Amino acid sequence: DEAKSRYRASNPKSWAQHQKAARVLPGGNTRTVLFSDPFPITLASAEGCRVTSLDGQTYTDFLGEFTAGLYGHSDPILKQAMMLAMESGWVRGGHIEQEEQLASLICNRFPSIAQIRFANSGTEATLYALSSARVVSGKNKVVVFEGAYHGGVFTFGAQVSPLTAPFDFVRAPYNNWEETEALLNANKDDLACVIIEPMQGSGGCIVADPDFLRALRDWTKARGVILIFDEVQTSRLAGGGLQGVYGIEPDMTTLGKYIGGGFSFGAFGGRADIMERFNPLRPDYIAHAGTFNNNVFTMSVGVAGLSKVYTPEAAAALTSRGDALRNRLNEIASNASFPMQFTGIGSMMNVHMCEGPVRSIRDLVGSNLPLRDLFYFDLVEQGYWPARRGMFNLSLPMGDAEISGLTDVVARFVRDRSALT
Ligand code: PLP
Repeated sequence: DEAKSRYRASNPKSWAQHQKAARVLPGGNTRTVLFSDPFPITLASAEGCRVTSLDGQTYTDFLGEFTAGLYGHSDPILKQAMMLAMESGWVRGGHIEQEEQLASLICNRFPSIAQIRFANSGTEATLYALSSARVVSGKNKVVVFEGAYHGGVFTFGAQVSPLTAPFDFVRAPYNNWEETEALLNANKDDLACVIIEPMQGSGGCIVADPDFLRALRDWTKARGVILIFDEVQTSRLAGGGLQGVYGIEPDMTTLGKYIGGGFSFGAFGGRADIMERFNPLRPDYIAHAGTFNNNVFTMSVGVAGLSKVYTPEAAAALTSRGDALRNRLNEIASNASFPMQFTGIGSMMNVHMCEGPVRSIRDLVGSNLPLRDLFYFDLVEQGYWPARRGMFNLSLPMGDAEISGLTDVVARFVRDRSALT
C-alpha cells in the first residue's frame, strides 16, 4: 500500500490520463498486459533504451515491448530505412522487393522454413499456422501447453482463454513427457498439430528441456502430426532461433515482434509441402489476404534490421550478455533471505519469488506475488521499467552502465528486504 501511494503521488499526470482513457477504453487501455494496478504510467516519448513518462520521469526500458523493442527506440539505421520508405510511398497495393528480401533473410536463417507468409501480428501468425495445419491434415485437434501464450491462444490459469478461436484444444503439461505422451496417444487419430514455445516467454521465461522437445519432435514425426514452434519471442535468442540452438526442426514456425523493426509484424512458415498450399496457382489453394501483410514500413525496416543490425553475430553477442546478467542476478538473489530467482535464456528473463527449478507454471504455484509487486514498484521508483509480471528484456542500445545499474538496484532490494525479514 505504501509503495502504491508513493507511485500515485509521483505520477499525477498519468493518473489523470488514465481516468480520461477509462471513459472510452475499458480499463483505460487496449492491451491487457500493459494495465498495471492502480493505474499504468503513460509514456510520452522514448529514445535509445529509455522511455519518458507524461510526468517527466525517465526509465531504463527493460520491458523492451515484450521483446519487440530489441532495436531500442531510435536506431539510426532503422530510421534511415523508415525515411526511405516514407519517401517512396507507403500504401502501394502491390508486391514490393523488400517483401522478398525479408522472406529470403528469414528462410536463410531458419533451415526449417522453406517458405513463409507475412501477417500483422504474432497473434495472426499463430492462428494462421493452426488453421493451415488443420486444413492440410484434415484433422481437428490442437495440442497446446499449460502456461503457453500464442497471442490469440493462451492458457494462463486452468483453461484456454474464452476469447480464443474455437479450436478443439488438448492442454498438456510443459516439460512433462510422461503426461504429454499419454495425452498425445489418447488423441492420436484426431491431431492436426502440436504448438509449443521452445521457451515460454510470457508464461515466465520457462525454458523447455531440449529432451522434451526432442521427444515431441520424434513422436509427431513418426505419426505425421504437424509440430509448430512458436518463436514469436524466442527467435531473437540466436540467428536461427531456439530451434537452431537445439538443432530441432519443426514443421512450421511462427514469428513476430522485433523482426518488423518495431512495426506490426507476424509471420508463419515452414515445410515446402505445407506452405505450397498457399500458392494461388493451385486449384485447392488456401487464400490468405491482408492489406498490411506486406506494408512498406514493416518490410523495409525489417530488412534493414536483420541485414545490417541484428546479424546472427549480434544475436549471439546479445544472448551472451543476457546470460551473464541473469547469472549475476541469480548470484545476488541467492543471498536473499526469501526465495527469489531469475529464469530465462539470453536477453529474455523473468524474476520468480519461489524456490526450486521452474519447469512449468505448476512450479510457480507457491510464488510470493505481493513480493514480486513490491520489487516492481521499487524498480519503477528507481527509474527502471520492467514488465509488471517480472519480465526483463535487453535491447541493443543498452550499455554496461544500464546493466550494472539494474544489478545495483536488485542488490539493494535484496539487502533491504532481507534486513526486514
Ligand atoms: N506468441 C508468443 C509466444 C507471444 O509471446 C506473443 C506475444 O507476446 C504472441 C504470439 C502474439 O504476438 P502479438 O502480440 O504480436 O500478437
